[in-house]
Amino acid sequence: MSTVPLLRDDCIFCGIVSGGVDAEILFENEDAICVLDINPIHFGHSLVIPKRHCRDFLELPASMVNGVFGAAHSVARATVIGLKLDGFNIFSNNGRIAGQSVFHFHLHITPRYRDDDIRFVLELKKYGDGEMKRYGALIRKCLSNPT
Ligand SMILES: [Zn+2]
Repeated sequence: MSTVPLLRDDCIFCGIVSGGVDAEILFENEDAICVLDINPIHFGHSLVIPKRHCRDFLELPASMVNGVFGAAHSVARATVIGLKLDGFNIFSNNGRIAGQSVFHFHLHITPRYRDDDIRFVLELKKYGDGEMKRYGALIRKCLSNPT
Protein backbone atom coordinates (compact mmCIF):
# COMPACT_ATOMS: atom_id res chain seq x y z
CA MET A 1 0.00 0.00 0.00
CA SER A 2 1.31 3.40 -1.00
CA THR A 3 2.10 5.97 1.69
CA VAL A 4 1.92 8.81 -0.85
CA PRO A 5 -1.31 10.78 -0.30
CA LEU A 6 -3.65 10.97 -3.27
CA LEU A 7 -4.32 14.65 -2.57
CA ARG A 8 -2.31 17.28 -0.69
CA ASP A 9 -3.76 19.95 1.60
CA ASP A 10 -1.26 22.56 0.37
CA CYS A 11 -2.02 22.15 -3.35
CA ILE A 12 -4.56 24.38 -5.10
CA PHE A 13 -5.33 21.77 -7.76
CA CYS A 14 -5.87 19.07 -5.13
CA GLY A 15 -8.33 21.55 -3.58
CA ILE A 16 -10.19 21.76 -6.89
CA VAL A 17 -10.29 17.96 -7.14
CA SER A 18 -11.64 17.61 -3.58
CA GLY A 19 -14.19 20.41 -4.07
CA GLY A 20 -12.67 22.62 -1.37
CA VAL A 21 -11.60 25.23 -3.95
CA ASP A 22 -14.25 26.72 -6.24
CA ALA A 23 -13.74 26.24 -9.96
CA GLU A 24 -15.78 26.40 -13.15
CA ILE A 25 -15.92 22.69 -13.92
CA LEU A 26 -16.27 21.69 -17.58
CA PHE A 27 -15.85 17.92 -17.42
CA GLU A 28 -14.96 15.11 -15.09
CA ASN A 29 -14.17 11.43 -15.44
CA GLU A 30 -12.63 8.84 -13.10
CA ASP A 31 -9.08 10.14 -13.55
CA ALA A 32 -9.35 13.85 -14.36
CA ILE A 33 -11.25 17.06 -13.84
CA CYS A 34 -11.25 19.89 -16.38
CA VAL A 35 -11.83 23.50 -15.29
CA LEU A 36 -11.52 26.97 -16.76
CA ASP A 37 -8.15 28.63 -16.05
CA ILE A 38 -8.65 31.73 -13.87
CA ASN A 39 -5.90 33.55 -15.82
CA PRO A 40 -6.75 32.66 -19.42
CA ILE A 41 -4.74 33.36 -22.55
CA HIS A 42 -8.16 33.54 -24.23
CA PHE A 43 -11.56 33.09 -22.57
CA GLY A 44 -12.33 29.38 -22.61
CA HIS A 45 -8.70 28.40 -21.79
CA SER A 46 -9.02 25.27 -19.66
CA LEU A 47 -6.89 22.98 -17.51
CA VAL A 48 -7.04 19.20 -17.36
CA ILE A 49 -6.02 18.08 -13.86
CA PRO A 50 -5.40 14.49 -12.73
CA LYS A 51 -7.44 13.48 -9.68
CA ARG A 52 -4.39 12.61 -7.62
CA HIS A 53 -1.39 14.68 -6.74
CA CYS A 54 1.53 14.17 -9.13
CA ARG A 55 4.22 16.79 -9.56
CA ASP A 56 4.70 16.48 -13.30
CA PHE A 57 3.99 14.31 -16.34
CA LEU A 58 6.55 11.71 -15.27
CA GLU A 59 4.78 11.24 -11.93
CA LEU A 60 1.40 10.75 -13.59
CA PRO A 61 0.55 7.08 -12.97
CA ALA A 62 0.46 5.13 -16.26
CA SER A 63 -3.00 3.86 -15.28
CA MET A 64 -4.32 7.46 -15.46
CA VAL A 65 -2.82 8.48 -18.81
CA ASN A 66 -5.80 7.35 -20.89
CA GLY A 67 -8.29 9.05 -18.57
CA VAL A 68 -6.39 12.34 -18.50
CA PHE A 69 -5.82 12.49 -22.25
CA GLY A 70 -9.35 11.25 -22.92
CA ALA A 71 -10.65 14.19 -20.89
CA ALA A 72 -8.40 16.56 -22.86
CA HIS A 73 -9.72 15.15 -26.13
CA SER A 74 -13.38 15.58 -25.10
CA VAL A 75 -12.90 19.11 -23.80
CA ALA A 76 -10.78 20.24 -26.78
CA ARG A 77 -13.47 19.03 -29.19
CA ALA A 78 -16.24 20.74 -27.19
CA THR A 79 -14.22 23.97 -26.94
CA VAL A 80 -13.54 24.08 -30.69
CA ILE A 81 -17.23 23.54 -31.49
CA GLY A 82 -18.68 25.64 -28.68
CA LEU A 83 -16.45 28.67 -29.16
CA LYS A 84 -16.08 28.33 -32.96
CA LEU A 85 -12.28 28.27 -32.72
CA ASP A 86 -9.89 28.51 -35.65
CA GLY A 87 -7.43 26.26 -33.75
CA PHE A 88 -6.12 25.46 -30.30
CA ASN A 89 -2.94 24.58 -28.43
CA ILE A 90 -2.46 21.78 -25.92
CA PHE A 91 0.61 22.08 -23.75
CA SER A 92 2.06 21.29 -20.37
CA ASN A 93 4.93 22.97 -18.54
CA ASN A 94 7.07 20.48 -16.63
CA GLY A 95 9.66 21.87 -14.23
CA ARG A 96 10.31 25.45 -13.15
CA ILE A 97 12.70 26.01 -16.08
CA ALA A 98 9.85 25.10 -18.45
CA GLY A 99 7.49 27.60 -16.85
CA GLN A 100 5.61 25.30 -14.46
CA SER A 101 4.12 27.35 -11.61
CA VAL A 102 1.65 24.91 -10.02
CA PHE A 103 3.43 21.68 -9.20
CA HIS A 104 0.48 19.37 -9.80
CA PHE A 105 0.63 18.10 -13.37
CA HIS A 106 -1.88 19.69 -15.75
CA LEU A 107 -2.54 20.18 -19.44
CA HIS A 108 -3.57 23.54 -20.88
CA ILE A 109 -6.10 23.73 -23.70
CA THR A 110 -5.99 27.22 -25.19
CA PRO A 111 -8.34 28.62 -27.83
CA ARG A 112 -6.75 30.20 -30.90
CA TYR A 113 -8.21 32.62 -33.38
CA ARG A 114 -7.00 33.99 -36.68
CA ASP A 115 -4.94 37.14 -36.11
CA ASP A 116 -4.95 36.66 -32.31
CA ASP A 117 -1.33 37.86 -32.24
CA ILE A 118 -0.13 35.14 -29.86
CA ARG A 119 3.32 33.92 -30.86
CA PHE A 120 5.70 31.34 -29.51
CA VAL A 121 9.07 32.90 -30.27
CA LEU A 122 11.48 30.04 -30.84
CA GLU A 123 14.84 29.86 -32.53
CA LEU A 124 14.89 26.42 -34.14
CA LYS A 125 18.16 24.51 -34.34
CA LYS A 126 19.61 22.34 -37.10
CA TYR A 127 21.23 18.98 -36.33
CA GLY A 128 24.82 18.63 -37.49
CA ASP A 129 26.23 15.49 -39.12
CA GLY A 130 25.39 12.43 -37.01
CA GLU A 131 23.82 14.42 -34.19
CA MET A 132 20.26 13.29 -34.85
CA LYS A 133 21.36 9.64 -34.69
CA ARG A 134 23.26 10.32 -31.45
CA TYR A 135 20.27 12.00 -29.76
CA GLY A 136 17.97 9.26 -31.00
CA ALA A 137 20.25 6.59 -29.55
CA LEU A 138 20.44 8.36 -26.15
CA ILE A 139 16.66 8.41 -25.87
CA ARG A 140 16.02 4.93 -27.30
CA LYS A 141 18.51 3.42 -24.87
CA CYS A 142 16.39 4.68 -21.96
CA LEU A 143 13.12 3.52 -23.50
CA SER A 144 14.30 -0.08 -23.40
CA ASN A 145 16.23 0.29 -20.13
CA PRO A 146 14.89 3.21 -18.04
CA THR A 147 16.93 4.14 -14.96
ZN1 LIG B 1 -2.07 18.49 -6.03
